Amino acid sequence: MSRIALLSEAVASQVAAGEVVERPASVVKELVENSIDAGARKIEVLIRRGGISSIRVVDDGSGMDRDDALLCLERHATSKIRTGHDLAAIHTLGFRGEALPSIASVSRFRLATREHGALAGTEVLVNGGKIESVKDSGDAPGTQIEARQLFYNLPARRKFLRTENTESSHVEHQLHLQAIGHPEIGFVFVNDERVVYQLPPATHLRERIRDLCGPALTAELLEVPEFATDSISIRGLIGRAGVSRSSRVQQLVFLNGRAVENSTLNFALREGYHTALMKGQHPVTFLFIDMDPAAVDVNVHPAKREVRFRNGTEIREAVVEATRRALETDRASWSRTFQASEPASKPLPDTTLPLLPAQEQIALRRAWSALPLQPTTSPSPTSERPAPLPAPAPIESPAAIEPPPSAIHPSQDFRILGVLGKLYVLMENASGLVLVDQHAAHERILFEEMLKRMEQQGVPTQRLLLPLTLQVSPRDADWLTRHLDVLTRAGIGLEPFGENTFKIDSLPTFLRGSEPAPLIREIIDDLRETSTQTSKLRLGEDMIAKTVCRHAVKANDYLREPELVRLIQDLLACDLPYCCPHGRPTMIQMSFGELEKKFGRKA
Ligand code: ADP
Ligand code: MG
Repeated sequence: MSRIALLSEAVASQVAAGEVVERPASVVKELVENSIDAGARKIEVLIRRGGISSIRVVDDGSGMDRDDALLCLERHATSKIRTGHDLAAIHTLGFRGEALPSIASVSRFRLATREHGALAGTEVLVNGGKIESVKDSGDAPGTQIEARQLFYNLPARRKFLRTENTESSHVEHQLHLQAIGHPEIGFVFVNDERVVYQLPPATHLRERIRDLCGPALTAELLEVPEFATDSISIRGLIGRAGVSRSSRVQQLVFLNGRAVENSTLNFALREGYHTALMKGQHPVTFLFIDMDPAAVDVNVHPAKREVRFRNGTEIREAVVEATRRALETDRASWSRTFQASEPASKPLPDTTLPLLPAQEQIALRRAWSALPLQPTTSPSPTSERPAPLPAPAPIESPAAIEPPPSAIHPSQDFRILGVLGKLYVLMENASGLVLVDQHAAHERILFEEMLKRMEQQGVPTQRLLLPLTLQVSPRDADWLTRHLDVLTRAGIGLEPFGENTFKIDSLPTFLRGSEPAPLIREIIDDLRETSTQTSKLRLGEDMIAKTVCRHAVKANDYLREPELVRLIQDLLACDLPYCCPHGRPTMIQMSFGELEKKFGRKA
């Protein structure tokens, strides 16, 4: 007996609906995308009870004539593509011709649509996929679609819906994506009769983000400088270094107007931020990529959220570069902040701090000089100092007792007030108070210094008096062999020395004093994680960042006045001065405005 039968159209639609319509938010997504494709300037979305009870989307787009109003409910009916050839270069958000029949098959559905200039519109009522009535309607030009009692005929599906609150927050997120992706369109969102927002059409993305996400976040965003290659152009706003989230919810990337998720893009952003991002954190981005639709396949997933690139390397490099350039623009603004401060020669009014009585200041300064910045084992003849900081003077040196900090700076863009908790340098600039984490600052400086040296002549090394041998597991030996060149450029002198054994004969100068064998083991462990996803050059950078961190100046090392000044100057000369190689901030500005607020001088 034959057992195969063709499914009825209604059942086939329900099956398809399973892929396209997962929850109210997916209905909202499909309907809003249709409105955008129809050229709407204003879209209203009204939901009740998380969208489970009803979803209504109203637009002022092109509308449809009666034939189309009926045809659009058929499966695979679309005005957006005609041939398989068109599929290779999709210009619209929709193209599958599945959304409307799918939604109509799992809800009580009403479509009212009218073309501009038409005498009358059309209203179609559908119940669980069955057309109940077709008649004239007097609605305004554009299209209104309402889906009530989602999954009323599919109890199994309905059970998978979450609470009304959860569903409505999914709807809200979906709309958030659409509203950011299309700032030129006005959006209204009404949830259970409450107007959640009413966004006027925006002329600039920044305006739309401010309306949706608030001014605080908007102030932390950097404009991506116009970036274009032959085939890709990138624009948008991204969070400055140090701005991050523990999930990817605010890492938004729009490809040809469509919010997409793609691992190549995720890696590229991570790589672009590189050291400006803390481990486990994700950047905040509103990135818009435009590229030839033929170079990307959007027909990967029914919900069209995922995409596949024909040339992943090209897009990845473009995103890395655009991100880096944006982050670097921030450096200029930091320097401006610092240069805007008082000139060097201006004597301090007596009312400005000292934080401590003069006597204690001197004592403190003595204490700063007591501990050197770097370990001070006498340098061997072959060693060269990589650190840009001056060597510490002996305690008794006359330089140990300095005149007050304010009087001596060679460059007076900032003024050092003192050191708090042996770690935080307190400074004053034109805008107010600046706190610098001296440990993080030193990490950043060493890190950039090392990178430059790696690119140029190599990192200065110090030979070990006695070369060491290191025995490792076969897997680690394999890893080391593959990365010998990067390690050597980073100043770690390593060569194979028999089976699974290596000889270490030199280390970077700044690691002087570290135990070589455990250090190499740590490095292998650290890097195995990163090496699967990053390019070789990046791998070197990561390694340096991590090792530098461990061996940079310790939090409670005392720095003497000139060393502090030098530290700050070197920091400001860095490419990314405002965060350490792990993405933690190096400086925090507390403006006079904020201080006034805290002291209740101003609301
Ligand atoms: P797709 O968007 O993939 O083409 P849909 O099932 O979502 O498939 O829509 C089918 C067709 O109905 C669209 O191609 C479009 O021509 C028409 N349509 C749907 N929504 C609207 C709308 N809001 N305004 C005008 N036309 C619409
Ligand atoms: Mg569609």
